[in-house]
Order: sequence, then structure tokens, then C-alpha cells
Amino acid sequence: MTAPLYARIIVDVPARPADRPFDYSVPDHWQSWIAVGSRVAVTFAGRVLQGIVVGLSRETDVDPSKLRGIEEVLDAAPPLTEELIELSDWVSRTYACPRITSIGVMLPAALKAQTETKVSLSDNAMEGQFAAASGSAGLVGLVGLVATDEEQRVLDYIRQKQPIKLDQLTKQFPDCAPLVKSWTAAGVLELERSVKDRLNRKKVQVVEAVGPLAALAELAESLPARAAKQKEVLLYLQEQGEAVALAKLTKELGVSSSAVKALESKGWVTVKEQEVLRDPYEGRSFAASKPLALTDEQQAAYGSIVAAVREQRPEAFLMQGITGSGKTEVYLQSIQACLDLGREAIVLVPEISLTPQMVERFKSRFGDLVAVLHSRLSNGERYDEWRKIAEGGAKVAVGARSAVFAPFTKLGLIIIDEEHESSYKQEDSPKYHAREVALQRGRMNGAPVVLGSATPSLESYARSLRGAYTRLLLSKRALGGPLPAVQIVDMRDQLKNGNRSMFSKPLHEGLEARLERGEQSVLLLNRRGYSTFVMCRSCGYTAECPHCDISLTYHQSSNHLRCHYCGFAQLQPELCPECESPHIRYFGTGTQRVEEELAKLFPGIRVIRMDVDTTSEKGSHEKWLNLFRERKADVLLGTQMVAKGLDFPYVTLVGVIAADTVLNLPDFRAAEKTFQLLTQVAGRAGRHQLPGEVVIQTYNPEHYSVLTASRHDYEAFVGQELELRKRLGYPPYCRLICVTFSGTMLQAVVRTAEEWADKLRSEWGQRGNMDPFETEQLRAEVLGPVASPIPRLKDRYRFQCVVKIRKEPDQVIAAVRRASDAFHDRTRKTDLQISIDVDPQMMM
Ligand code: ADP
Ligand code: ZN
Ligand code: ZN
Repeated sequence: MTAPLYARIIVDVPARPADRPFDYSVPDHWQSWIAVGSRVAVTFAGRVLQGIVVGLSRETDVDPSKLRGIEEVLDAAPPLTEELIELSDWVSRTYACPRITSIGVMLPAALKAQTETKVSLSDNAMEGQFAAASGSAGLVGLVGLVATDEEQRVLDYIRQKQPIKLDQLTKQFPDCAPLVKSWTAAGVLELERSVKDRLNRKKVQVVEAVGPLAALAELAESLPARAAKQKEVLLYLQEQGEAVALAKLTKELGVSSSAVKALESKGWVTVKEQEVLRDPYEGRSFAASKPLALTDEQQAAYGSIVAAVREQRPEAFLMQGITGSGKTEVYLQSIQACLDLGREAIVLVPEISLTPQMVERFKSRFGDLVAVLHSRLSNGERYDEWRKIAEGGAKVAVGARSAVFAPFTKLGLIIIDEEHESSYKQEDSPKYHAREVALQRGRMNGAPVVLGSATPSLESYARSLRGAYTRLLLSKRALGGPLPAVQIVDMRDQLKNGNRSMFSKPLHEGLEARLERGEQSVLLLNRRGYSTFVMCRSCGYTAECPHCDISLTYHQSSNHLRCHYCGFAQLQPELCPECESPHIRYFGTGTQRVEEELAKLFPGIRVIRMDVDTTSEKGSHEKWLNLFRERKADVLLGTQMVAKGLDFPYVTLVGVIAADTVLNLPDFRAAEKTFQLLTQVAGRAGRHQLPGEVVIQTYNPEHYSVLTASRHDYEAFVGQELELRKRLGYPPYCRLICVTFSGTMLQAVVRTAEEWADKLRSEWGQRGNMDPFETEQLRAEVLGPVASPIPRLKDRYRFQCVVKIRKEPDQVIAAVRRASDAFHDRTRKTDLQISIDVDPQMMM
């Protein structure tokens, strides 16, 4: 008799009341299997669900006789480490979300099990205990229970197929639910509930010699001459020295599988199934790359990072390096040092720049030690890459945001490239910021974190000023070339001078010159589709999405108007729906429109357009970029996808069609984002021998973000921007929480938002219009409610409150969560939702 063991389990129910660990006892036979981080099947509120073990103990606070046992441990080895379990608690507290949600983001989709119910006849029923008075035995005797022919058919079906999945049974007999319930209650049927994995493992057929390899040649000799193919197979197996995939064998030897079958029937070889890990980069070879001799600046940065790795010191570095300064080479060599010390590394890059080019740089240096995690992988591929990490085959994980949760156990270094990117913030729950998670993991593992960028976020820059981050500076381009010259073009002047085209004179001439010289250009327009909106010239009607308060975008290729927020689409009307005027026109410019205009102005020009519409297919991204690299196109035109990370030697011109698209967003970070985007895209020009040139078209030529970007002057930009943020009381001078209330009933949304705000105001002692000095004394301040910038989305009304955190952020976040939980009854019974976003990147 083993001592009792109790497991604390988070069950897979993302609702407030279930958001705490529940105790279960662990039956003896599961004790040696279970660990913190195990997935288990447990019964909860009458259902069998997946749960995650967050603690194990010989004691429990609950009366042990009242505890249920766990049903099953689902994996031989726990998929999550103790460290990740602890981290999930931190994520939940920091971002005000249920624990199961933060655990969920750490597990690959393939490990999110589904529950399954199987139906069979009970032992009693099988033994004929229900035999009716008629005296006949067994199932026939169930006659007393079965009233109709249909019922008899259900019963016969169960008997034949048992145990049968409940959903299969209901597919066959859609109305059988009441019957199954009453028979179960009567003890005729038994329901077995279990948690079923969606794991799909890839298996291939392999051929293996049965006896010792050394004997194969002799066996081959013994075969008659006409069995030449079989001979070949035997000798090949001997030469390979191990089991060989059947497909590979038949292909390389040019034999059919019948030769193998013949050998199998002789009992000399066996063919069996073996699991293989899918490799998304299968069949691709990566030329090995060697470390470059570092420049002085690179060497200094490298030295500081490696010292911290060696001492296992969780120091945070802000590596500020201009585009082309060789940040990636510093990452690569620091990782090498980390691996040499027997530790592992995570590299985060924005999804959008997780291009084949970027992946190649890591694969070329570290080969099979690299696992790549990005959103274009299938669930199976993703699961296998994840397992390579968990099982120790991979030592470097390169991936987008969620790769920060890579299940390493000897984490020695975390790198975040382009740390200013807003895509590091997840917009769905858990609304975590990968940078903050990385810093937390760094602290938990004694691993330094390197934040790299040419244009650090203001938050990071402010932290480096405070000394929280160590600043590493790369001020020169590694290949020596100067940063490209930037020209700002005032589009209002162009119009005054009679140029109504979307291309200014300098950009037009620049494109022309590149075409003549056979060089390439990159054009950026941060807006897909054909035009921004459709308006009637006669009455002023604009086409809006019927489900969102947002104008529709015209897509010319399909002649549709489309909502970029909910996907709604309708045919472009010929006449104005309001006044039936035919003068309905497009305004603003999207990438499709630019493509068309280029073809008109420069006949024969070869354009590649890259935006969400042209890159939705798997591998399309790579295809376009390869075509461009091979100089099969003159212009690469696209949204911000073309701004990041690309390194093409023949690109000598970068054109920004409209710098104002981001600047005009209702967002306190608009200036920062504009500066970053302009700097990034400008950095694509003249990276190699040929000098580069940049043309920025704008209606705001005096704006400081445009001016400072044109001079590549980050310091000047942050100087002004920090001052402004300080005056307005925005981050990095405080932290924000954006709380959005949404629902289909406008009244309920507004009322809840107001009650919510009042509740917190009274808790924090905030009165109406306090003077600023007084509010400084408060822990936090609630602003709003006001209608959200997008007041209606997918038919739901949206209001928001913004909380400005002044001190004690942990307490403030907890209070915000408590206040929202207080409305649990309302959100459970209606379609009202309250969503909390801590440190929001977007407040739309
Ligand atoms: P960043 O990531 O800072 O934009 P990259 O790492 O892409 O810069 O480097 C730009 C170019 O300089 C690349 O072609 C890279 O191979 C080259 N490079 C980087 N470091 C060195 C070095 N120490 N010596 C020679 N070339 C280098
Ligand atoms: Zn009209
Ligand atoms: Zn819509």
C-alpha cells in the first residue's frame, strides 16, 4: 500500500468559478506516472475533462474521503515543465486571465484533448438480469424495456457495435438522447467518458533485417540469379547498417516493393511502422555558414552578452543597432557560446519577418539543432517541432511570439529581434507581451535577455535610461556602406504643380532610373485592397460594414467591397444605394490600386505585390521573395510585410507611397509606429555595394516623426516623443489597462461599463474632476467609459475604460480583475463580455 498522493489540478474550463486548482487523489497505479506538468483526465461537474497538474502533495486540506481520483495520466512524460507551470501562474496574475488560458498557450494545439463518451451495455444487461417475465434469457429479455421497433433498433445497434462513441450513435439515431439517458439511469447502459488525444503522429514503413547484418551477404549469395532485385535489397540494407524507409529504398534502388515482400515472406526482413518527426524544412539543404570576424562594436556587445550567459545572470540588454549593423551575427555567435556552455536558446522574431531568409541564417549556422515555430505550420508539424525541443533534439528555438514558451529545461539565453514590434503582444487572451514573459523567464532561469532593434520601443528605451537594461550600441553598418539618403516629398506641392498621380515626380523618376539600370525598388503602402473607402459624389453616402462601424474597402480583382475587420463582403454597387446616383467613386489608395497604376505608367514593369491577399497560401511568401531575389521582378510592392528584415543587394530605391496611413491612426503610439516603419523600410535600400535612395511621400512633411526618420535620428525622435508622453501621462510614464465592454444590447453595455467604473473609482477614492496633484496620490485612475474607437464590431457595441496605473501595479491589476468578476452573473447569463488588456498595444 503506497502512501496517499494528492494532485492539485487546473481543469479545462475557462470560466471564473473554475479558475483555481482542485484536489484529486492519485490512485496507486498512477503514482509513478504523474508529475507536475502532467496532463490528466478527471471528472469535473459530471464530465470527463483534461486537466493539468500544478502541484503534488502527500496532504490535502479537503476531506480525503470526499475526493475523486484522477481517471488517467495522459502522457508518459509530462508535456510541461515545473518552470512553465510556475510561469503560467505569473502570466495569469500579470495579464488577468484564467490559469487554464495561460497554460493553453504553452501547449501545442495537438495536445489539447477532446472529451469522448462511449456507450455499451452493462454487465447486468449482458447477463440477462433484465429478463422480462416472459422468461426468455439475455438480450431478447430486454423486451420489457423496449417499447417500439425504433428502440429495438437502437438497442441492437449498440449491442453489435459496443463500445460505441456517443456521437456516432447520435449520428445514426438523432433522437436517441432521451432513450440513452433513461436506459443509463435504469442500469442497462454504461457510459464511459474519456479524454481523447488529437495527436496525430506521422508514421512511415521501414524495412529492417531480421538476423544479424553480417549474415545478409551470405543470404544474398544463396538466392538464385533471377532474384537479382532481392539481392540488391539485402546488400543495400547491409550497407545502410540500419532500418531504411521503404519509400527511400524502392526509390534509390529502383525496385518495386514486391522484392521486399518476397524477402519478408522468407522471414529475412520485416516491414514495420515507425514514427518519424515531420520536418517542415524537409528536403531543403542549408549551406553551412561560418562565424564572421566581428567588428569592434559587435565584439563589445558579444562580450557583455556572453559574460552574462556564462555567469547565468538574468541581465537584460537593449541592443540598439542601425539596420544592417550586424545584429544577427551577434545573436548567432552569442547563441553558439550559449550552446558551448551546454545551455539552450530562444530567438523570437516577429511573425511577419519569420521569412525563409531569416530561418536560413539560423539553420545554416546550427543545422538540425534548430526548431522553427511559426503560424504557418500544420498542427502536426508544430507538434513535432515542439517535441524536438521537449525531448532535447533541438537546442535553439526560432519562432514568433509563442516560442517564448518553448519547453527547454536548460534555458541560457533569450533573444528578441525587432523588440519594438507590436506583434509581440497577443491580442487574444492570454493578452501577454512576449518581451515581458521573456524577462520573467530570464529571471526564473538565470538567463540574459537581449532586445535588439534599430528603433527600440519607448518602454525599453526608458528602461535603459533608468539603468534597468544595459545598452549595447551598434552605430555603423557592418558592410561599411552609408545609410541611404532620404527625401521627403510634400504631396500637397505635387498637387499644386498639377501632378495628380499617386507617384510624385521624384518617385516616378526614381522608378524610371531603376528600370533603366536593371536595379530593383521596394514600394511600401500600409493598406491593402484597392481604395480606402467608397463615397457617393452626389449625396455623400459612404459604404460601411453593416456589422461594424468601419468603411468597406474596394477589392478590384473580385469587384467586391470588403470589411477588413469581420470579413463581410458585398458586390460593388453600380448606383448609390441612397440616391441612385451613378457617381459613386473610390477614395484613398490600396496596394491593388498602386499595382494597376504602375502597369499603366511603366508598360512592361514586373511587379510583385505582397499583402494578406496574395500571401494566404502556404509557401507563397517564400515564392514571392525568391522571385524577387532572382530579379524576376523590378518592384516589390506591399504592406509592412516588405518593410522588415529583407536583405536584397540590388534594391537601391525604397518608396513610401503614403507615410500618413499610420500617423493618422487614433493611437497614442501613432508617431512611434510611423518612425519605426519609415526607419525599417528605409533600411532595405543600399545594403550592399550599390548606394540606396529613399523617397517618402506625405501630407505631413513637418511632422517630427517623419523628419527625424528621414535623418535616421532616433535620439531626436525619442527626445521629443518622451516629452510629449510625459505631458499627456502615457506610457512609459505610467502603465495602462484597457477594459472593453461589449454586447449586442447597447443599454446593457453602457450601464455595465458605468457601474464597473464607479465601483473602482470608489475603491481608489477617486472623485469627479480631481486636480492632477490629487490623482497622483491615488494608486490608479479610471478614465471613461467612452465608446471604443471602433464603436461596433461584428454587431457588438463596444465601450471602454482606461485605467492609468500610478503605483502598485499588481494590486491594481488584481482589483480590475475582481471588479470584472463581480459582473460574472451578468456576463454568464447574457452575451455581455468584459475583456481586460494589460499594457495594451492597440486600443481599438
Ligand atoms: P541587422 O540584423 O543589424 O539589420 P544583419 O545582421 O542583417 O544586420 O547584417 C547586415 C549584413 O552585414 C549582412 O549581409 C551580414 O552578413 C553582414 N555582416 C554582419 N556582421 C558582419 C561582420 N562582422 N563582417 C562582415 N559582414 C558582416
Ligand atoms: Zn448618393
Ligand atoms: Zn465588418
